[in-house]
Amino acid sequence: MNAFLSVDNIQMIYQTPTEETEAVKDVSFSVRKGEFISIVGPSGCGKSTLLSAIAGLTPQNRGTITMNGRDISLCRESIGYMFQTDNLLPWRSIYRNVLLGLEIQKKLTEENINYADELLKKYDLWQFRDSYPNRLSGGMRQRVALIRTLALKPELLLLDEAFSALDYQTRVKVSGDVYDILKKENKTLVMVTHDIPEAVTMSDRVIVLSKRPAVVQKTVVTDFGSGVRSPVSVRTDPRFQTYFNIIWKELT
Ligand code: ADP
Ligand code: MG
Repeated sequence: MNAFLSVDNIQMIYQTPTEETEAVKDVSFSVRKGEFISIVGPSGCGKSTLLSAIAGLTPQNRGTITMNGRDISLCRESIGYMFQTDNLLPWRSIYRNVLLGLEIQKKLTEENINYADELLKKYDLWQFRDSYPNRLSGGMRQRVALIRTLALKPELLLLDEAFSALDYQTRVKVSGDVYDILKKENKTLVMVTHDIPEAVTMSDRVIVLSKRPAVVQKTVVTDFGSGVRSPVSVRTDPRFQTYFNIIWKELT
């Protein structure tokens, strides 16, 4: 297997003046280019900690993380990171929010602006470009946040509970939209979620972590056959329940 992202024997420890917390004990996995991976596990088991190491933001205590064979700390420009909150600036229009990342990184070139415009048009947000975030629904704001991230042309997307602030129906809809957008734009995805249906429907493989300190407890390949998957419609596929049950059993 040709690994695009390789996570090898990661250990992560938090040090405070009075104690040491081992958040991640020993985690290894690899991801192929274009693959979508979900990480699930009990609350507090170390999922966000692990993801921040994969983002190159928090150094691990042991182990290595590489992307295209290079240490992850050198690849930060190729990684997009999205959280639960959309972090849109309320005083900036949608358009100026989308261009914010490019502005900060001093990459407001004509080519990059054209690409941002193209994304806004392709994903039905162009007509809202002069609106302010408070005029948009939570689902739309999360799509704007995604486009702002994609405007920087990351190869790898990291999502940490990115849909958990949304109500159920919106969550199902937006996770389907995000899946479609990331597939169309040929991205690779590693996402953390506590929502088993979200993990099963959105990813090719689900990595189940143990309780803290995290180790990989099980890996479940979620195969719904060939062809383009729709995360909304696979919820009625009989295999969905099978995968759900396998993961549920691991977590209880
Ligand atoms: P998860 O995302 O799986 O819910 P986290 O990775 O956020 O879990 O946290 C894993 C463990 O590390 C938890 O016990 C948490 O309390 C602890 N932890 C997280 N961040 C810090 C920090 N900055 N300092 C000390 N301990 C932390
Ligand atoms: Mg977390």
